[in-house]
Amino acid sequence: MREEFVLINVRPNGEAAKDMVIRDGRIAEIVAHGSRPHAEGTPIVDGEGLLVLPGLVDAHTHLDKTLLGMPWYRNDVGTELTDLIENERAMKRVLGIDPARQSATQIELSVANGTSHIRTHVDIDTQYGLAGLEGVVASRERYRDIVDIEIVAFPQSGMLIRPGTEALMDRAMREGADVVGGLDPSGVDRDPKGHLDTIFAMAERHGKPVDIHLHEPDALGVFAIELIVERTKALAMADRVTVSHGFCLGMLADKPLARLGGMMAEAGVHLMAKGGAASARPPVLDLMEMGINICSGSDGVRDTWQPFGNADMLDRAAIVSQRNDFINDVHIELALRMCTYGGARTMALEGYGLEPGCDATFVLVRAETPADAVASRPVRRAVYRKGIAVAKDGALFAA
Ligand SMILES: [Zn+2]
Repeated sequence: MREEFVLINVRPNGEAAKDMVIRDGRIAEIVAHGSRPHAEGTPIVDGEGLLVLPGLVDAHTHLDKTLLGMPWYRNDVGTELTDLIENERAMKRVLGIDPARQSATQIELSVANGTSHIRTHVDIDTQYGLAGLEGVVASRERYRDIVDIEIVAFPQSGMLIRPGTEALMDRAMREGADVVGGLDPSGVDRDPKGHLDTIFAMAERHGKPVDIHLHEPDALGVFAIELIVERTKALAMADRVTVSHGFCLGMLADKPLARLGGMMAEAGVHLMAKGGAASARPPVLDLMEMGINICSGSDGVRDTWQPFGNADMLDRAAIVSQRNDFINDVHIELALRMCTYGGARTMALEGYGLEPGCDATFVLVRAETPADAVASRPVRRAVYRKGIAVAKDGALFAA
């Protein structure tokens, strides 16, 4: 659009009013509001005292299978993990869930809500092959100017228990996936060593990170995390491995939690916690204090598993806050950090943040402080990506 403009009277992360000079898609300078005249002819955009937050990061979702925009799906599914997986496998065909169309719907909603970066898991399975990947790759290309999308090849129906899945995962890594996914090494694949050795070897072969859905409880989950930490260290993959959910971390007494959390922190294993209501809660504050980087995500948004979700990461920060009894500003801002900087670190984003030199990728809202933004979840007044406005007042500009 334009090469340079000044966004005046805005409050980055709730600080005093500033003027931000945006040049070639980056934040060139930040100065006190009105402290100096701007070069004649430079366009000026009035930020009206709005709060600026860095682009929101949805570090865990499932774009390929949301039912957003489709008719209401009546959920009569059991609550066991295997019930949900089998039902979804069948329903993809019955309902005609088109991964390209459905991912597009969620992406548009996410960007309108101020999300700039998405890590999406995409089902890789012997029944549907790479259809999910192909659809989401098409959407990633279609929306590449307004959002960054990272794709995890995810063996949702199991990998070793369904021969052929591993080869499909490997193909997915050659055909557009960015991260190797895993799933309950014991609970689903019934072979923790075999499952983890396979996905870590795949990650090493392709030079890519790992992100593992780990729902396993108690000692089983602890064992899985120990094996993940061992492999992370052996392959020198610090900061490139994420445990998603890690519910077992919410089932431990203080001492074993400190031991396991310390191991994760030392190895540089990230945690994704969404603050879900149905399962044990990893104590995110304690885990952050142990030095673990924690991100968050929408996870499934209106799918065959459950009907909730709106792809709004401010809403997610509120859910994480409420689930963790975060009531003071410092803690609520930590929940928001999970949905911004924590996700950026998990995804190893370059140029992320509100400092000079960072990409001019941010969201403007009418709120006094970051905690107020989480509590109020105000309409996103403007969403910028690399210096270009992509959404206004909660609606995407036409492509
Ligand atoms: Zn998930």
